[in-house]
Amino acid sequence: AAKASGKRTWRRFQPQQRVRVVERHDLQARLDKAVSEEEFGLRYQPVVDIAGGEVVGFEALARWPELGPDPVPPAQFIPLAEETGHISTLGAWVLRRATDDIARLQHRTRRLDPPYLSVNVSARQWRDTGFLDDVCTALDTTGLAAGTLQLELTESVLMRRTEQIDAQIQALKDRGVRIAVDDFGTGFSSLRYLRDFPIDVLKIDKSFIDGIPEDPQQVALVEGIVHLADTLGLQVIAEGIEEQPQRDLLADIGCGFGQGFLFARPLTVEQGEVVLRRRNAERAPAPD
Ligand code: C2E
Ligand code: MG
Ligand code: MG
Ligand code: MG
Repeated sequence: AAKASGKRTWRRFQPQQRVRVVERHDLQARLDKAVSEEEFGLRYQPVVDIAGGEVVGFEALARWPELGPDPVPPAQFIPLAEETGHISTLGAWVLRRATDDIARLQHRTRRLDPPYLSVNVSARQWRDTGFLDDVCTALDTTGLAAGTLQLELTESVLMRRTEQIDAQIQALKDRGVRIAVDDFGTGFSSLRYLRDFPIDVLKIDKSFIDGIPEDPQQVALVEGIVHLADTLGLQVIAEGIEEQPQRDLLADIGCGFGQGFLFARPLTVEQGEVVLRRRNAERAPAPD
């Protein structure tokens, strides 16, 4: 119980709460150092065409530390980076590094339809006035074509839009960058934004995909989302596909794209290139 009134505020922690506070404090100190010394890494999870299995893009996923036996999951350090404001620095680094990696990969593989890059952008980054500049700088310095960059946002961003966020998104759209809604279906936003907001892609959250093909209600929901997206002219990506029966059902209902361990785990950029060459071999342009 915490006593909030009076001059002297004191709190009594449960022993396990105390451990958590100490751990959190320790983690935050490590994160401060990691941000200033760029101790992060990136992995790239292929996005595939569900019907044919070809790789169409890569989602960049942050890793910390880059190497070593004891990684901290992004679900832990990303929220902490958001709270402390480090996400601006970390997010700018992710943009620079990922656009550089994928621009090089595109150059080495010289495909007619180069794989795109998808980058997660947290709510705080979207509110950051420097974010648009970070994106433009990354595109300009690496030469990645804006049309091959996709930025992911969550429904929480759409629920708390401001003129500044809308202007930023419009500027990115004008440059040709695509916008995807990540973890679609888990937020509390109204469906109205699908109509009046310039979205290109819906990513159906893994929690819906987990229940198919067994659970008829989950199947109905996924089918509904796919049809809704079709009607509105949006692309759909199913997240977290782990089993072949899930893929078969998604192919049946016409879900265009997917990601998941069934196809590939998050990979180093070198591994990603190998998978791209293998899966897309039959569509490769003739060597010159
Ligand atoms: P997300 O953007 O929804 O990314 C998908 C997560 O699901 C990734 O977890 C990925 O490794 C995992 N995943 C993909 N396929 C499967 C599957 O078949 N089965 C299972 N069990 N998991 C699968 P990860 O890398 O741990 O990232 C977690 C979250 O952290 C991401 O969710 C994203 O919200 C956030 N995140 C990661 N990197 C960044 C970043 O650079 N910036 C920001 N702002 N957020 C990031
Ligand atoms: Mg994502
Ligand atoms: Mg997601
Ligand atoms: Mg997520």
